[in-house]
Amino acid sequence: MTKLSIRDLSLNNKRIFMRVDFNVPLDDGRVMDDTRIRETLPTIEYALRHGARLILASHLGRPKGKPNPKMSLKPVAERLRVLIDDVLRRGENVGFSPDCIGAQAEEMAEKLERGQSLLLENLRFHPEEEANDPEFSRKLAKLCDYYVNDAFGSAHRAHASTEGMTHFVEKRAAGLLMEKELEYLGKALSHPQKPFVAILGGAKVSDKIGVIKHLMGKVDAFIIGGGMAYTFLKAQGKEIGKSLLEADKIDLAKQTLADAKSHNVRLLLPVDHVVADKPEAGARIRHIGEGEPIPADMMALDIGPKTIELFCDEIGGARTIVWNGPMGVFEIEAFAKGTKKIADAVADNGAAVSIVGGGDSVAAVKAAGVADKITHISTGGGASLEFLEGKKLPGVEALSNK
Ligand code: AMP
Repeated sequence: MTKLSIRDLSLNNKRIFMRVDFNVPLDDGRVMDDTRIRETLPTIEYALRHGARLILASHLGRPKGKPNPKMSLKPVAERLRVLIDDVLRRGENVGFSPDCIGAQAEEMAEKLERGQSLLLENLRFHPEEEANDPEFSRKLAKLCDYYVNDAFGSAHRAHASTEGMTHFVEKRAAGLLMEKELEYLGKALSHPQKPFVAILGGAKVSDKIGVIKHLMGKVDAFIIGGGMAYTFLKAQGKEIGKSLLEADKIDLAKQTLADAKSHNVRLLLPVDHVVADKPEAGARIRHIGEGEPIPADMMALDIGPKTIELFCDEIGGARTIVWNGPMGVFEIEAFAKGTKKIADAVADNGAAVSIVGGGDSVAAVKAAGVADKITHISTGGGASLEFLEGKKLPGVEALSNK
């Protein structure tokens, strides 16, 4: 089902409520990293150029349902004014409403003129936001004529601003960023160019098993690295020493290995390892070659060179690549090589559609300096995982169908 896009709405002189992700790091009232604001700027620019009266709303941090000046969106309004001025060059102010609902917010929204914008205070200053309270939702909806959601990263949550209020708004559309996310992730699942390779890593099998189940039969190969790989290796009867193990997931890992076989899906696991006595910089490091057991007092913290070669070969032949999760404890330089090499291999495959999601893998492609060679970097870690698990995201379901 295709969802309505902001490009399908007639925006002129309409009050548009746009749910954005302005959950940016603040320090002493200053925006430390404005990436998230910039990512949604094309949608904001589009709306303003088309004469919308724009009402922007977001959460920031976890204020636990109470106003907290440290998590105020006020500094974001100031940064936004500079960014909008950069693209529109009209010297427009960005209004700021100190509450996201109520008489003042309603009056400010009503007074907006074409091409003007207003940012509401942190939605999560009200406990009703996360509780998806209908009365609160109705109050948010009262501010606008149409609704636009550009916050893919919050779309897996049924909150008042992502789901509840949409029941009270006639037209609900995806913003340009949301549309891009749905297009790339959607196409990877419904019409992937083959071979389709999914690279999964990170700490836990339990976090990624939903994705493996949903992609089984869709992908040609799984590449599994990181801590989660060692439960699989244990399931194959290998010695894994002190490596990360989810003992209660061994049977599930066995089942997954059997499923892969019956679906004719290649499931690649590490064959050699970088091990150490502890996951710390300055730890005693060793390489464990193919067929060698990992000593009982050591843990595997990165994939070894042979594994890198094996994984990179598979990646090089792919035409669709989805990657979520690091291949090792990449936060520590000594264990970052595997993840970096995978980032390079994904970036170097110019013939493939590559999609990277999840904070750690996104950080890895950025650290490797190859972000611009990735087809699509998802802005939603949890949301992209749930999408790949085949779950329906409440914030996407809530949008009008075309
Ligand atoms: P996740 O949030 O599940 O994607 O996991 C990311 C975390 O997994 C990172 O903090 C990594 O340090 C950690 N990780 C990756 N590989 C390993 C490993 N071999 N042993 C322990 N932790 C790992």
